[in-house]
Amino acid sequence: MTLYIKNAEFIDWESLEFTKTNIEVIEGKKGGIRFFNTMPVLSADSKIIDAKGKYVTKSFGCGHHHIYSTLARGMPAPAKAPQNFVEILKYVWWHLDKNLDLEMIRASALASALYCAKNGISFVIDHHASPFAVEGSLFTIKEAFDTIGLSCLLCYEISDRDGEKIRDKGLEETRNYLVAGNPGHVGLHASFTVGDTLLEKAVALAHEHDTGIHIHVAEDLADQDHCLKTYNKRVVQRLFDAGALDLGRSVFGHCLHLSEKEKKLLKNSKAWVAQNIESNLNNNVGLMGYKGFGDRIMLGTDGMHSDMLRSAKAAFFVGQGTEGISFPGIYDRFRNIHRFTRENHFRGDGDNNLVILDYNTPTNMNKDNFLGHFVFGIDSCHVDSLISSGKLIVENKKLVSASEEDILSFAREMGTKLWEKLT
Ligand SMILES: [Zn+2]
Repeated sequence: MTLYIKNAEFIDWESLEFTKTNIEVIEGKKGGIRFFNTMPVLSADSKIIDAKGKYVTKSFGCGHHHIYSTLARGMPAPAKAPQNFVEILKYVWWHLDKNLDLEMIRASALASALYCAKNGISFVIDHHASPFAVEGSLFTIKEAFDTIGLSCLLCYEISDRDGEKIRDKGLEETRNYLVAGNPGHVGLHASFTVGDTLLEKAVALAHEHDTGIHIHVAEDLADQDHCLKTYNKRVVQRLFDAGALDLGRSVFGHCLHLSEKEKKLLKNSKAWVAQNIESNLNNNVGLMGYKGFGDRIMLGTDGMHSDMLRSAKAAFFVGQGTEGISFPGIYDRFRNIHRFTRENHFRGDGDNNLVILDYNTPTNMNKDNFLGHFVFGIDSCHVDSLISSGKLIVENKKLVSASEEDILSFAREMGTKLWEKLT
């Protein structure tokens, strides 16, 4: 079946050119799109979407997600109210992730992928943790994303926090996932839970499979304090010394509490930074801005939700105060994930990933003022349809690749089971 979009107003995500056209969407990770002024004669099994009055543009990507936190919404309060970032991990997230089993992970990944799809996201970079269900976790998440029809770049956040045995399971799961030919990172939690032996093994594994490290970097001052006290150096220096900055495909989450020297090291490296502003606000870890980092900054949600338009707006509003960010500046950051995937040859984020926006604006929109609409007007509620690697996933705001009701009822069932274990 070939997919056509007729009467489209196409917005090129890089040049912001508006073109009235008909589009043929060619399926597959190597597929693409073709434009026609007049619709060709179609075969009987063609699927045609009429986009009259709507806008078509490249779909979105998330640079740092945690699908494992999907079932946290509304969960019981922690045993102790956390007083700082390390206590938030200890009493909330590490308590939750230790109670996950593979079925809960499957439910979390399906529900996350569902929300991503309905919010126009077709490519997700995830950082996963489930210390007592490590084996098979990445394969389970991949299968869930395949079921919905989205592309993903996964990793397990390996750590020394739960001892050597679980650490080694993390390395093993990562190796198995990469050996099977899946696109992934070697994931690490953060410097303060990663010893030198693990860091060395992780960098070696990443080299072996031609990929990068995905790690939280200086999200809170505690990460720097621990590094200085334990290794007599700062976090980025430690990663640099271990060779992690030489790896082209690396993603460093947050990067908040960095010295000028560390920013320079990052700027001169091949690593990408993932900004997660709402999570930083929620955890009260500080708001730093990204002056001096260079251009390789993309946006993530840190598992708080699956809505990149919302993340971009939050990053814009905060970024005005912290770094004087502009409309083009925030739009570039929102779209940088595509530059990351292109530069690093990750498949599943090509031209045949499209979103159709039903954006009935009260003012005119064109190339010159598009960014004003991007910041103040276009919202995830305008996402009408999503096409991922040439396949129709969401049509008229409804998931068509799987049953939304089945996914949500399965997630609620698994959520109840998880919450019972938490109390
Ligand atoms: Zn994170």
